[in-house]
Amino acid sequence: MRPIPRSSRFANGGVSFWFRDMGLPERRPSLPGAADYDVCVVGAGYTGLWTAYYLKKAQPDLRVAIIEREFAGFGASGRNGGWLSAEFSGSRERYAESHGKSSMIALQRAMMETVNEVVAVADAEGVDADVVRGGMRLVATNAAQQERLTAEIEYLQEWGYWPDDIHLLAHDHEPRLSVAGAVASAYSPHAARVNPAKLVTGLARAVADLGVDLFEDTAVEEIRPRRGAARPAVVTGHGTVTADHVVCATEGFTSPLRGQRRDWIPMRSSMIVTEPIPAELWEKIGWEGREVLGDAAHSYVYAQRTADDRIAIGGRGVPHRPGPDQDGSTQPQEIAGLWRALTRMFPDVADVPVEHAWSGMLGVSRDWCPSVHMDADSGLGWAGGYAGSGVAAANLAGRTLRDLVLGRRTELTRLPWVGHKVRGWDPEPLRWAGTRVVHGLYRTADRRESKTEDKGHTSRLAGIATRIARR
Ligand SMILES: Cc1cc2nc3c(=O)[nH]c(=O)nc-3n(C[C@H](O)[C@H](O)[C@H](O)COP(=O)(O)OP(=O)(O)OC[C@H]3O[C@@H](n4cnc5c(N)ncnc54)[C@H](O)[C@@H]3O)c2cc1C
Repeated sequence: MRPIPRSSRFANGGVSFWFRDMGLPERRPSLPGAADYDVCVVGAGYTGLWTAYYLKKAQPDLRVAIIEREFAGFGASGRNGGWLSAEFSGSRERYAESHGKSSMIALQRAMMETVNEVVAVADAEGVDADVVRGGMRLVATNAAQQERLTAEIEYLQEWGYWPDDIHLLAHDHEPRLSVAGAVASAYSPHAARVNPAKLVTGLARAVADLGVDLFEDTAVEEIRPRRGAARPAVVTGHGTVTADHVVCATEGFTSPLRGQRRDWIPMRSSMIVTEPIPAELWEKIGWEGREVLGDAAHSYVYAQRTADDRIAIGGRGVPHRPGPDQDGSTQPQEIAGLWRALTRMFPDVADVPVEHAWSGMLGVSRDWCPSVHMDADSGLGWAGGYAGSGVAAANLAGRTLRDLVLGRRTELTRLPWVGHKVRGWDPEPLRWAGTRVVHGLYRTADRRESKTEDKGHTSRLAGIATRIARR
């Protein structure tokens, strides 16, 4: 492999390129001491912020606090690929099993409306997050991927996507997006490109302006359920906050929290971004529509053309034991893998230096299904497990948590991910071994499919991996 060109400004970590570009925010004050609220939210990512936003909008006199260990957007919400899309990661069959197929279709339609909702609220609140409603483009670069992409579209059209919502594109489709070796592509209008850090920072400002007390630099050590007359409580080194309801919105960071169920394990996703790409290369590539772009590989990638004409691309990296996620740095083999994917898709970009690499934690449940919960007895609520598709889903979860906290029975609280029961993860080291095996099998399947060793069909290895992962 030729050496990866690195920018003189190259950085690895530093939370994310998005934050480095706009500057890390000045931290808000930490919790001054013991306090009492109607609702206390733990974690200031999209889930926590949207929950607080909609609660305060619905009931302005509600006393709402958010307790954040670092600063708003420090987690996945300030590091992601900026796909605001209607993609939903859970198994449709599992939700349909408990609630019926029409209920799952309602959830998918709600995800589509959520893309509009986020764009509309960002607009109304004056949040400039470089939003472009360009839709989503998926490309297949070999026969097996083409077969899978076609089957996926047929499948989605049975589960709430109508033909206008996702379809295959003609080869000469305009606006052009030239991906090397593409043999098929599909399009959905239900997506927008965003700058994730601008979105989360603007949302935090809007939430604070509404009168929510947002405390940063305050680590929550334990979340206690209601016990008899003792109200639910959030324990920090700065004092304990009691509240009628506590919402845990820490997704990929949840497992170390005392008193939290271990429904979600942390998985890492990594990204790289190039320097701005010269205009003459953009003329070759096209991508005037600024669609968010993905592929149909098993170890898939997600990409966007940024507001300042770079390419940011990410993917599930090599699994390694997640340690404390301080600065979001990523490993050399992940950078190399992403650069290979980038230059396979866009060979002309091979001389454009990579300027930044970073990673973040997302939360994955054992059945890969996201869920939203509010337990009336304990007073505790939580949402997450979005498995890498959380930018829009966190907004839908936030609106749903609003209704659950306020005791409203609405069409949102009837959606099948509300109260979805999640089986616990296997103990270590089984879980670790399983993750590595699945990762290896998917990688090998992709390699075999690209060489058509599997005669243009999805590799059997991928089927084995999916069964092990129980997705
Ligand atoms: C690299 C990457 C790329 C991704 N790309 C996309 C994409 O393009 N599209 C998409 O839909 N999804 C994507 N995702 C997933 C998406 O970003 C997440 O699902 C979503 O941001 C989750 O939001 P959240 O608020 O639930 O969690 P987070 O944003 O992780 O927020 C949790 C917050 O809790 C705080 N916290 C943790 N522990 C404590 C504690 N003990 N006390 C107080 N505070 C605490 C953290 O500091 C953090 O701010 C990506 C994720 C990653 C990592």
